[in-house]
Amino acid sequence: MTNGKVYIVGAGPGDEKLITVYGLECIQQADVIIYDRLINKNLLKYAKNDAELIYCGKEPGKHALIQEWIHELLVEKAQQGKIVTRLKGGDPCVFGRAGEEAEVLAHHGIPFVIVPGVTAGIAAAAYAGIPVTHREYAASFTIVTGHGRQEKGDDRLHWEGLAKGSDTIAFYMGVGNLPYICQKLIEHGKPSNTPVAVIEWGTTERQRTAVGTLQTIADVVKKAGLSHPAIILVGEVVRLRETIQWFAEMNRGETVATT
Ligand code: SAH
Repeated sequence: MTNGKVYIVGAGPGDEKLITVYGLECIQQADVIIYDRLINKNLLKYAKNDAELIYCGKEPGKHALIQEWIHELLVEKAQQGKIVTRLKGGDPCVFGRAGEEAEVLAHHGIPFVIVPGVTAGIAAAAYAGIPVTHREYAASFTIVTGHGRQEKGDDRLHWEGLAKGSDTIAFYMGVGNLPYICQKLIEHGKPSNTPVAVIEWGTTERQRTAVGTLQTIADVVKKAGLSHPAIILVGEVVRLRETIQWFAEMNRGETVATT
């Protein structure tokens, strides 16, 4: 048996202050920190001096191999009796593979804890002045992966359900697929004038937001040159940005375009 333990921790979406108290404690106490590409690297300053810091950012196309290696690393370090903090962007259970890693640990009888984090779809929206629900505009909110495409054979989304059944939709990993996403939503009955915001590097000093409609946003984003990482937020709540936008001004962020 092992004395080690793994903490699977959400580092928050970007702004380093958006990590939880529990998450920060996990960084401070870890012997080993295995961290992802999108975490705020400033957080690593809170690690012990002698902590081992292991970067495992994923290059496109190498995901499977690297994931395998991460699993081995988690098991190996914990079996050496180490306190391991597995640090992931946003919330570890939202497109963060926390489930797969926890399964491996459970399988090996290694104790672990999952420490939730602030997810980008909600936080980037809030920093852009967009609440994902609102009594007058949205009673439901859906988190969706946006990277699938029919011609690649990996689009498993229920587009009709999305178009008709969810007031606000946050697409993760979708900015490269924006024209397809807009087209699909329109095809399945979402009005083409539905407001859309694309928020790049949300909650960081690099945050930029573009606003348009399902019809126009792909062009706006292309012209503005927004790219990964970004959240695509679809729904009437986007209109609230006009009134409650707060972060861009305070932090010299740039508003690229409005409707
Ligand atoms: N676990 C993370 C999501 C990981 S998937 C979370 O809960 O936030 C990676 C995707 O998250 C990116 O493609 C992008 O869509 C989104 N993302 C992560 N950080 C972001 C940020 N600071 N601003 C905008 N989108 C972000």
